[in-house]
Amino acid sequence: MNTKRDYYEILGVARTASVEEIKKAYRRLALRYHPDRNPGDKEAEEKFKEAAEAYEVLKDPEKRQLYDMYGHQGVSNSGFSGFSQTEDIFSAFNDLFEDFFGFSTGRRRGRSDLGPERGADLRYDLTISFMEAAKGTEKEIEIQRLETCPKCSGTGAAPGNKVVTCPSCNGRGQIIRSQGFFQVSSTCPNCNGQGVIFTEPCSSCNGKGRSPQFRKVKIKVPAGVDTGARLRLRKEGEAGARGGQRGDLFIVIHVEPHEFFTRKGNDLYCEVEISAIEACLGDVIEVPTLNGKEQIKIPAGTQPGAVFRLKGKGFPDLRGFAPGDQLVKIKMVTPTNLTERQKELLEEFLEIEKEKKQGGFFKKIFKKVEFNKS
Ligand SMILES: [Zn+2]
Ligand SMILES: [Zn+2]
Repeated sequence: MNTKRDYYEILGVARTASVEEIKKAYRRLALRYHPDRNPGDKEAEEKFKEAAEAYEVLKDPEKRQLYDMYGHQGVSNSGFSGFSQTEDIFSAFNDLFEDFFGFSTGRRRGRSDLGPERGADLRYDLTISFMEAAKGTEKEIEIQRLETCPKCSGTGAAPGNKVVTCPSCNGRGQIIRSQGFFQVSSTCPNCNGQGVIFTEPCSSCNGKGRSPQFRKVKIKVPAGVDTGARLRLRKEGEAGARGGQRGDLFIVIHVEPHEFFTRKGNDLYCEVEISAIEACLGDVIEVPTLNGKEQIKIPAGTQPGAVFRLKGKGFPDLRGFAPGDQLVKIKMVTPTNLTERQKELLEEFLEIEKEKKQGGFFKKIFKKVEFNKS
């Protein structure tokens, strides 16, 4: 899974390629590596699958955007999941060829084997507050997903009704007809490719065996998550068909910004204002942290933009490493609305400051005079 090649590289197109270019590139590869042309060639088959998967993602603007942002992680198992079944690859291929030639090549492998089919993975985008991300939270969400029909237990047949092999396709799920020089197989219309029919379908699920239901799911969001984090809830996706495994549910986290804090990695950044006078004389100030207030000693003579580090006061680490730090940047403000008394004191301060500066100057002149005297 981790050694997957880049989709653009697979198709040999630029990251800026248009949908048309992507289609063209895929068509070329699909024709070259199609299993019918390369019987028994495992490598060709792999290449064919790889190209189909890349095409499936890049032809769809939404999936392509996710892929561009998050790579394979963004599109695999995300509810628009890639290919869990070989069948899907061929259906992608067939869709394309319907586009090109105006007819369907049919499904190469129908559902004639009627084996268990894994339920689809689902994606849910969850927005949480900055503080919830810092401390972890529990949420209950409601999702709609396919559940095994309780009335027919997933068989799709009305109670007391027998499931029989489809007579049109003899259970293969597809029928073959000749079209010009081609032998074209297509999905059996009698059984919709299921290979079986019922004389009377289940009224609750219309014979599908599964039906969409609303379900509440509890989510435990660990402390330290950031936007883009994905939580996997195993077996909370859609129900499988014919005894197949349930899919997974992927929660994609979005963290709201905070008015006071920003975050970089696990470090927490904030800015506090202090007056130029406080900075001059030094002071102890209170700073908000993720866990209440904390005191910081500002030494005398602190300059604007100085940064103080509160070790371990940042975000907890998801993998259990040491937490981040909080970095407090000092923003200096000039005091306004001074009282008469404050002005008086500051004027006095300024006088002394002037004298200090000029003191040196006068001393020099004085020395000069003295020198001339002697
Ligand atoms: Zn049913
Ligand atoms: Zn049939």
